[in-house]
Amino acid sequence: MNQELIYLDAHATTPVEPRVLDAMLPFFTQHFGNPSSLTHAYGWEAAAAVKQARETLAAAINASPEEIIFTSGATEANNLAIKGVAEAYFAHGNHIVTVQTEHRAVLDPCQYLESLGFEVTYLPVQPDGLIDLNELESAIRPETVLVSVMAANNEIGVLQPLADIGALCQAREIVFHTDAAQALGKIPLDVRAANVHLMSMTAHKLYGPKGIGALYVRRRQPRVQLAAQLHGGGQERGLRSGTLYTPQIVGFAKAVELGLALMEPEAKRLSQLRQRLWQQLSQLPQVYLNGHLTQRLPGNLNVSFEQVDGQALLLGLRSVVALSSGSACSSEKTTPSHVLSALGRSESLAYASLRFGIGRFNTAEEIDRVANAVIETVRSLRQITV
Ligand SMILES: *Cc1c(COP(=O)(O)O)cnc(C)c1O
Repeated sequence: MNQELIYLDAHATTPVEPRVLDAMLPFFTQHFGNPSSLTHAYGWEAAAAVKQARETLAAAINASPEEIIFTSGATEANNLAIKGVAEAYFAHGNHIVTVQTEHRAVLDPCQYLESLGFEVTYLPVQPDGLIDLNELESAIRPETVLVSVMAANNEIGVLQPLADIGALCQAREIVFHTDAAQALGKIPLDVRAANVHLMSMTAHKLYGPKGIGALYVRRRQPRVQLAAQLHGGGQERGLRSGTLYTPQIVGFAKAVELGLALMEPEAKRLSQLRQRLWQQLSQLPQVYLNGHLTQRLPGNLNVSFEQVDGQALLLGLRSVVALSSGSACSSEKTTPSHVLSALGRSESLAYASLRFGIGRFNTAEEIDRVANAVIETVRSLRQITV
């Protein structure tokens, strides 16, 4: 691959950090035992590594180790949380509240539940991408069993007020789930302080391997009930059967450990790079920032360009920088981003948008090269269309 191509798509995925890979490697060939094989040392070794990883992950979010359920990623964690609560609380009610700007891995399980007879409220957002807490409060009904609001948005990076939402749900005795796939290791997360009951996580947005994630499931005050979605060997307290993927679990924990250690300096460095990029891009006329200016992930910038064709813009940039327009999953389709539409952006502005995901390995020099390329491409496209 072209090594000159600058990677600015950190919300889609990130490379595995070399120290994470080093931690994983012995568990493929040497310590390959099944963590459930408790009759011999191969199993004990693997079980000890999984135990340690579970403790690391739990400590990172102020949970207890037994509250961590390993999954294949955040998609599976979201499915387990949403369908698992819907099934377990069915006798209490059939109403779910979520938000229009959620990831498809939250919206689609909700839509699936609608097909089974559940009712779902999709809350709108304000023009800055934040939900209105009063609207959330008035959406809650006596039969509401679940509120699902993401921690950090994967397109516009906007951070929702988790602690406020948690307090509201705690007072109403409603289960609160948050998709923290983008937030883990980037911003502080404390499931106790924020009254979060279920939290989805993934390793590959945090310089860990793909194919591993976890769901935090609260066991005390309250003890959250969940119906398993995968049945089999009874691993993970029966909530998620299947042989534990030791190398990925070890890598996940290492990625979280590094993410926490680097969180403060990285947040500062990334927001400076983000600011540097926005300062240059905003010199162009008719460019718009999507999402709240400061209440967002440090490495996220999302910009719409007036009078530019979105596809042509991406085509013009693809030899310089790897990024996406809208979310990676929706950029194959020709519909505008549902997130930008929810902000009230017109169809043409939603199409003509770029999502910059600045990550751990990007430099100021790369940011300047990207800014120049974007400015040049936008200018030349505008000359053609005008
Ligand atoms: C990436 C992402 C997911 C999906 O995570 P996987 O681990 O790839 O399944 C879910 N939600 C959000 C917000 C994401 O950014």
